[in-house]
Amino acid sequence: MAALLFHSTNGRSPAVDLRSAVLHGLAPDRGLYLPETFPQLTRAEIAAFTALPYAEIAFRVLAQYTRDVVPDATLAAMCQAAYDFEVPLEKIGDRVHLMRLDQGPTASFKDFAAQMMSRLMGFFLRQDGRQLIILTATSGDTGSAVAHAFHNIPGIRVLVLFPFAEVSVSQRKLMTTLAGNIRTIAIDGKFDDCQAMVKRAFADPALKSLPLSSANSINIGRLLPQSVYYFYAASRLAPAGEPMVFSIPSGNFGDMMGAIVAREMGLPVKKIIASVNDNDAFPRYLATGHYAKIVPSRNSLSNAMNVGHPSNLARLIAVYGGQMDEAGTIHRAPDLARMRRDLFSSSVSDARTRAAFLDFWHKHQLLLEPHGAVAWQGFQDWLQTEALEGRPAVILETANPAKFPEEIQKAFGWSPDVPPRMAAQIQLAEDFDRLTPDYDQFRDYLIGHYADHPTAKTHP
Ligand SMILES: *Cc1c(COP(=O)(O)O)cnc(C)c1O
Repeated sequence: MAALLFHSTNGRSPAVDLRSAVLHGLAPDRGLYLPETFPQLTRAEIAAFTALPYAEIAFRVLAQYTRDVVPDATLAAMCQAAYDFEVPLEKIGDRVHLMRLDQGPTASFKDFAAQMMSRLMGFFLRQDGRQLIILTATSGDTGSAVAHAFHNIPGIRVLVLFPFAEVSVSQRKLMTTLAGNIRTIAIDGKFDDCQAMVKRAFADPALKSLPLSSANSINIGRLLPQSVYYFYAASRLAPAGEPMVFSIPSGNFGDMMGAIVAREMGLPVKKIIASVNDNDAFPRYLATGHYAKIVPSRNSLSNAMNVGHPSNLARLIAVYGGQMDEAGTIHRAPDLARMRRDLFSSSVSDARTRAAFLDFWHKHQLLLEPHGAVAWQGFQDWLQTEALEGRPAVILETANPAKFPEEIQKAFGWSPDVPPRMAAQIQLAEDFDRLTPDYDQFRDYLIGHYADHPTAKTHP
């Protein structure tokens, strides 16, 4: 069988295989890659997951995409190495569970994607001895997850841009203490500024000689691994194949697209709840059919979700038959009625986020952090519109509470325990540069630090 092909959401670039899609990140027409057709898992194949550990489920899901580009044995070894941590499912109601995606090396759900993508990229690069510079913008968690995933991977250097005032101190330290092949820049601006600078660099002819690649949630190599934990949750909580409800705290909507991918591959899903903070472009779109990005993006407690224009919306719209370009203009409307049936989205203010995590603590004696609290409240909001009727539901907790000690300290007067691996990391010396959100200055920085790299070759 031939390799699965991926096409661009902008529809003006040729379809490519996974290798090329992963190494490029963004398609040449600035669209996002999506599989031409979603590979299908049968009911029996999904039912077999109930007896399998996480890494084996990851292998069986991802093998659907790596045919002809990664040998099965290599993929299996990558899954074993990437997923060597627990994925706890805490019971909080009859059939309602909290899925804790916070046990990876940076205590963030982004480890699930980054750990796999770094291995895929490393493998593809080694095949032909190339080098890459990963350029990524982070609103908090991506940078550290990506930096950790690529730390010490030969042939890959990483440059992370983050908004100085929008990331917590521990989030920052997780990425500024790595050194080696990892470099970080604090931008005196917003996440959107960082993202815009990165996007411009990719399109800049003056940087053509730099082998730049992206590792943001736009990379299909990050998106596909994020479908796995939905299969995992269903394997443990809905062994008979009952349709699931998922509430997902959403910023760039990569996590949420993981649920869509799982569903498109055959996982029975009743409802996907996209819970957002004050950056409510998506719930407004779902309600009105008019899309208006939030410029500038709004600050909130759940700072990894301060995204005014979620980049993965272009993919969601494509799955529903529409077309949205990278600027957020919709050229062809998706099937909005079907989208409204499948999805629910609600915006949770900081005040409601705080109230939600207090309420959750009192009801369940479990600590949420702000992102998980947004997901919990979004789920409550959905319950106002539709009855659960005994269906299995999962709320995603995407970070460890220790990454957001300020809120917990304020509410309870004590700080959560820092996971040991993270505690050791943030003791190390920090090293980062600072820039204003000025593109020309950033371009000079890139040329100054990377242009003379002896093995720099043209973009793959
Ligand atoms: C990135 C992030 C999110 C949002 O994920 P998206 O894929 O961007 O929607 C939610 N919670 C945490 C802790 C994050 O780091």
